[in-house]
Amino acid sequence: MISSGVNEVLYRKYRPKNFSEVVGQKTIKTILQNAVRLKKPAHAYLFTGMRGVGKTTVARILAKAVNCLAPIEGEPDTTCQNCALVQEGRFLDLIEIDAASYTGVDNIRDIIEHVKFFPSTGRYKVFIIDEVHMLSKAAFNALLKTLEEPPSHAIFILATTEIHKVPATIISRSQRFDFKRMAAGEILQVFEKVIADSKIKIDEQALKLIAQAADGSLRDGLSIFDQILSFTSENITVQDVEDILGVARLGMVQKLIDLILAQDQTAAVKFVKDFAEQGRDLTQFTKALLEYTRLILLVKIDPQNLQGLGLAAEESAKLNQQSISLKAAQLLEIIKQMLEAYRITKQSPVAELPLLMAVLSLVPERAAPEVSVVAAVQKVIAEQRQSVEAISGLDLGTVMDRWTDVMSKIKEYNHSLVSSLRLARILQVENAELVLVFPYGFHKDTIDARKNRIIVEQVLEEVFGRPLRIKLYLEKDLNSDKDLLSEAVKILGKND
Ligand SMILES: [Zn+2]
Repeated sequence: MISSGVNEVLYRKYRPKNFSEVVGQKTIKTILQNAVRLKKPAHAYLFTGMRGVGKTTVARILAKAVNCLAPIEGEPDTTCQNCALVQEGRFLDLIEIDAASYTGVDNIRDIIEHVKFFPSTGRYKVFIIDEVHMLSKAAFNALLKTLEEPPSHAIFILATTEIHKVPATIISRSQRFDFKRMAAGEILQVFEKVIADSKIKIDEQALKLIAQAADGSLRDGLSIFDQILSFTSENITVQDVEDILGVARLGMVQKLIDLILAQDQTAAVKFVKDFAEQGRDLTQFTKALLEYTRLILLVKIDPQNLQGLGLAAEESAKLNQQSISLKAAQLLEIIKQMLEAYRITKQSPVAELPLLMAVLSLVPERAAPEVSVVAAVQKVIAEQRQSVEAISGLDLGTVMDRWTDVMSKIKEYNHSLVSSLRLARILQVENAELVLVFPYGFHKDTIDARKNRIIVEQVLEEVFGRPLRIKLYLEKDLNSDKDLLSEAVKILGKND
């Protein structure tokens, strides 16, 4: 095989052969090891979590462990014939499918054909389906049929970075494991293994910095490391790493400033939302943004200062342009808002909220909602109030009493949905409709997204034993003089 560069070498060096060599994911490893030890593996596993946290690696080790001829305390011995074949990628009873490239129902039918046959050399036929959320609807249905009555010799391991796109019917038939973001210390451990007997020379501090920049993903960490090695491979210093990483961060900061300048609220909110969804460190970003405002100030005071900053040409030009475009009062407001966001960011139960609040106050919605809209919404609600509870037998009190159940069930599907839903006020329940009111459009939109709406409604049906549709409103549309900011302060101050 042709090596595609340093990165592949780094990957090859970190190739854990058994559970204990896998860095991180301790609970998951323990549970799986116990299942192997007791010879009671589940027929379907669902591994979820962001990219690069070890889902496929653990899946392969599990496949090896259940087929190992001489397992030791739930661990594969890594030396028997079956283990050796798995490690060489030649084990016939391990079938790996990347759903990102095969989404057709025919492929799934092929797999089902495979499922019927007994394993050739192993005890179990193991099917690893990576990026399972990419399967087509028909393919999911075919898979579901198999999962309903799996042959005793079959084990499915489904892996996904987007659990909310996996049908609830599949989720409920699988044993689910949520892979955690990796701690910087864990990523550091892998780095140390990887460079252990190489010629790479790098400062301990520089290595730590890369581990932090990986933001919880080992794959990202190794890829950043690779990027740095392609610039320089001996005596890598903190300065080298900062130079390379800093550029990327500066680009993001400048992009947000552009959106603030353009007063594009939708895009600015999306920017923060995406940033948070990627699991990136918002505290560091807010700090970088503050540091950048200092640069703008310097250039505003004297454009000559631009020269001494050591920025790349593109960044330098952008900085110059933004320092001209930003009025002093505007810049001051950005600094004020970002300082506040940075101050409260540590105690905020919802990581992206402080930055989001700062952005919302810097880029306010241009037009207030028309009175007619408000009036229309209020009218609809008033009408609903009259026809309420008697028909459904489901009253507001019952819903509120069981709301914690709803929340914890939703959490099983999608953790981040809970953060949005937590902010909702339950206004009323009509025969088949639950009306929720949100303080911010961002959270309302999150719940309103089709895939999320399906999850919430599915859970409501599970909890209350009948279909319930959700109807969402913005607090300000119901009561336009509500002070959003004081509401936010309350939310931020709440200890969670
Ligand atoms: Zn073995």
